Amino acid sequence: MKRLLYQGVSGEVDASESIKSAAAAVIRGAAPSHPEPDVEDPKLREECGVVAIHGHPDAARQAYLGLYALQHRGQESAGIASADGHHLANIKGMGLVSEIFTDDVLQKLPGHMAIGHTRYSTTGDSALLNAQPIRVESTKGLIAIAHNGNLVNLGNLRTRLERAGAYFQTTSDSEIIVQLIAHSRAGSLVDAIADSLSQVEGAFSIVMMTRDRIFAARDPRGFRPLSMGRIHNTDGPDTIVFASETCAFDLLRADYERDVLPGELVMVTDDGVTSRQYSTGVQQTSCIFEHVYFARPDSKIYGRWVQESRDQMGRQLARESHVPADVIVPVPDSGVTAAIGYAEQAGVPFRFGLIRNHYVGRTFIEPEQRVRDFGVKLKLNPVRNLLEGKRVILIDDSIIRGTTSRKIVRMVRGAGAKEVHLRISCPPTVSPCFYGVDTPSKRDLIAANKTVEEIREFIEADSLAYLSLDGMTKACGGDEGTGFCVACYTGNYPTQWVDVEDILPATAGV
Ligand code: SF4
Repeated sequence: MKRLLYQGVSGEVDASESIKSAAAAVIRGAAPSHPEPDVEDPKLREECGVVAIHGHPDAARQAYLGLYALQHRGQESAGIASADGHHLANIKGMGLVSEIFTDDVLQKLPGHMAIGHTRYSTTGDSALLNAQPIRVESTKGLIAIAHNGNLVNLGNLRTRLERAGAYFQTTSDSEIIVQLIAHSRAGSLVDAIADSLSQVEGAFSIVMMTRDRIFAARDPRGFRPLSMGRIHNTDGPDTIVFASETCAFDLLRADYERDVLPGELVMVTDDGVTSRQYSTGVQQTSCIFEHVYFARPDSKIYGRWVQESRDQMGRQLARESHVPADVIVPVPDSGVTAAIGYAEQAGVPFRFGLIRNHYVGRTFIEPEQRVRDFGVKLKLNPVRNLLEGKRVILIDDSIIRGTTSRKIVRMVRGAGAKEVHLRISCPPTVSPCFYGVDTPSKRDLIAANKTVEEIREFIEADSLAYLSLDGMTKACGGDEGTGFCVACYTGNYPTQWVDVEDILPATAGV
């Protein structure tokens, strides 16, 4: 049975009983509506999504809507903390946003401010303990934090803080930021936050909340996205919102205003918005994989539409490696936009030759005699009349271990395709990520261990080609001044050192 746990934490508000009954209701009605990590999943796992709301009478419900739009960034746990100027309440649970935050639960989160988080774990274990927002009572008052990314200098910071008397409630790296704030000698809270953020290295887009203020910040290299938006209110001050991706603003009816800049700390109070650069002069290295795969195509990331980047990746891929073909078929869903660009550039028809079953859960009754490639067949099915007798170009966004790509190639060939060519809309993934993306170790990344020709042979395709590094960077607007991290394609990491012992990448499926 699927595990659904609840944790209700409140400041001066005791919401525990009603949370328990709401949790019980959810547990009773729980259905495994999203797949657990499984060995058939070909993709790297998304990291986290964060949202913050200031100046809305029902801020928690707005945070819920924002998280709902960011659900693709993490499906393991979710949480919302709200504040009304005096009290700070926090509720988090395991599962999807809509499963955790029923109407009853949202009513326990009053106030005009809220922050929220949806998570797939990257450090710390996946227990409820590490779900966010994390709430810490500190010398600077009560602080709730929600963090997207991974810190890379954990080891020495944690030890130093523990020696200074810090008591860690979680094993999550995000709590280090709050403990640094609590132990800062800076006089004001905003100075303590700036002081804390300048001591940590790695990837962090964070939102924080005290009883009466919201903070939003990005790490100096801007690894992860974070945008600011505004809901224009005719009868009072505007509502200020922050979200990992701008697709959340659409559901909130907020206008995108700007990105939080790398190294910027923004503070929102009842008096308005103020900002400071707590770090300057560091080269921007935003995660390019957000454009390749993670972010939704209807989001604007680092000032550029993801749809536009993926379309350009497909076009560039066609320019670099097209072969004669009858049909272009995307591997759904993430290969779709690049495949449209590719088909237009190559002048070859685009067809949905593979159909994805969106309702595959974790539990299914397996056939008695295990069918070859059964897991992939559950998720994808070929449209035989579109593939039979055709020279097919499949477009996908990555090959991680290669086993799933091989199953898809076999499936298309089994449906009667005459030739199967695979095109990948990014370069070979040769190195793990330490900045908040769950990648297998180098040992399990096929491109770290085989040449392109050896991979082609392994996946049984007639031809295989990847997008060039230069082609990908240009397609994502790199020639317009955005600096990108491309470490998983090159092995050259932008931070000075990586505390690998503490941040061994989690074991991803496939
Ligand atoms: S290593 Fe890859 S996935 Fe990780 S931040 Fe850099 S580009 Fe993104």
